[in-house]
Amino acid sequence: MTPAPKDLIAYFSMEIALASEIPTYSGGLGVLAGDTLRSAADMGLPMVAVTLLYRKGYFLQHIDAHGHQTETDVLWAPELYLERLPNEVQIHIQGRDLRVGLWRYRIIGFDGHQVPVYLLDTDLEGNHADDRRITDHLYAGEERYRLTQEAVLGIAGRQMLETLGLQPTRYHMNEGHSSLLAIDLLKKFWESTPDPSLEACMAAVRKLCVFTTHTPIPAGHDRFPRALTEEVFGVKPVEMVATIPRLLNTELNMSVLGLELSGFVNGVAVRHAEVSRGMFPGHEIHAVTNGVHSATWTSPAMQAVFDRHLPGWRRHGHTLRSAQRIPTAEIVAAHRGAKQILIDTINAQGPHGFEVDRFTIGFARRVTSYKRLTLLLRDVGRLHEIASRWGSLQIVFSGKAHPKDLEGKRLIEAVFRQQEALRPYVRMVFLPGYNMNSAARIVAGVDLWLNTPTAPLEASGTSGMKAAHNGVPNFSVRDGWWCEGYIAGHTGWVIDATHTGDTPADDQDAQRLYRTLDEEILSLYFGNQPRWAEMMRDSIALAASYFNTHRMLEEYATRAYGLSLPMHPTHR
Ligand SMILES: *Cc1c(COP(=O)(O)O)cnc(C)c1O
Repeated sequence: MTPAPKDLIAYFSMEIALASEIPTYSGGLGVLAGDTLRSAADMGLPMVAVTLLYRKGYFLQHIDAHGHQTETDVLWAPELYLERLPNEVQIHIQGRDLRVGLWRYRIIGFDGHQVPVYLLDTDLEGNHADDRRITDHLYAGEERYRLTQEAVLGIAGRQMLETLGLQPTRYHMNEGHSSLLAIDLLKKFWESTPDPSLEACMAAVRKLCVFTTHTPIPAGHDRFPRALTEEVFGVKPVEMVATIPRLLNTELNMSVLGLELSGFVNGVAVRHAEVSRGMFPGHEIHAVTNGVHSATWTSPAMQAVFDRHLPGWRRHGHTLRSAQRIPTAEIVAAHRGAKQILIDTINAQGPHGFEVDRFTIGFARRVTSYKRLTLLLRDVGRLHEIASRWGSLQIVFSGKAHPKDLEGKRLIEAVFRQQEALRPYVRMVFLPGYNMNSAARIVAGVDLWLNTPTAPLEASGTSGMKAAHNGVPNFSVRDGWWCEGYIAGHTGWVIDATHTGDTPADDQDAQRLYRTLDEEILSLYFGNQPRWAEMMRDSIALAASYFNTHRMLEEYATRAYGLSLPMHPTHR
């Protein structure tokens, strides 16, 4: 990567997964942000990132013997992980001044290149007591709390970069939470241009802004009633914004802001971009399919295999395309090592009786209705019968439900309720406290990675890409990244889900899942181990080699950031 010295990409995200124990993330969006920055550091990309500090984190998940989830604040000491900086900015919201302070985390790449991450903090003396809590919790509180957080992220965040002497040549808004930065930029151009025209100022903003949408659910886009925006920003500024066509009517829609004020807009998979074009007609929406940071999500044992056979894989994800040269026995052995670690972790948490020789299915992600945590358990009789014929099955579940998502919490309880009904042939465990560390263990240690979203609601999904890096085939509904990643007979299997009107046909989908699991997956696993091992290797060669953030960031760099990349050295 040889960027012009002036190039600087500023990446804004409401959540960023910096490290497992830094509680500034809730799920896929934050992990994607972290993986993007880890790849930027490896690739030497000139990038900085902005997010909020979250002194109380997302939440700690507690699950009782009945599967009932409760939450407590995360207690963590930012000073153990971050560096406090003296910089400060002041913005004016809710009719008063708000001081915003700054912390820094450094992501250090493979060659020592650094990507600084700036975390904004409102817990400063002199701030109103309510305001000191703005940067306490990720995704908690009411609408007003969220809007003030987004003001801090977008407006104070942009201005903070200025006080640091940075002049980004692109602002990448990872989801609509930071879209207010585009309004703030517009205001800056308006105020600093003699005799400004709205068209010229908007064109200047669009040149600088890149917007990635992540949500195929209309209700998933942040929207704020106009009256609330007036309370937070004042009547006059809101009136000014409302004179701009399409930006603000009865409500402020953060995705519309991102779309209207960005020169490059994308969805996070080919399918998701299609769905987004339907949601926002009249906008050009590109597809840049997500990836994961290969070195972060490959188990240490499998990393050693890659290092032996595919040197260069840490620098160029596509090197994994040559995985065919790895003897399958080495992949199987590395996977078995990772599986043993997972099994030991599970058994250390209770008398679960998991064994390394049993076929193990994994399902771990945010618990929210559309992901259908319990689809696999829809017909426990059928599942038990299948398991009894093949010997036995083990299932590992994990994931957090948002504190206010009562339906999600009920799904976790449903998993616990079925535990006894499935004995003795199916052993099932729900691991509490899903985070980056446990995610890495689970994706690497199971035999099959299951994903059952109601299509087309999974924008991309990334946990399956992590599984692929560890030689774990996927079994998924045709949605998100899997529309691109599924190669029949090589990377895994599909659950051909159906829809009757607007309601997902859960019963039918479950029956198809069982049939494929029984007749294709288990019969291959138990009947043809060499073919299974080839599918493990093909998952690396055909899925991991493409679905990584190095490839993804190259696409952003050349298509959205205006950077040029040198040609890659050829595979070794
Ligand atoms: C990868 C990851 C996710 C995303 O999982 P999906 O299956 O893509 O929803 C969520 N949470 C954590 C902790 C992860 O590591």
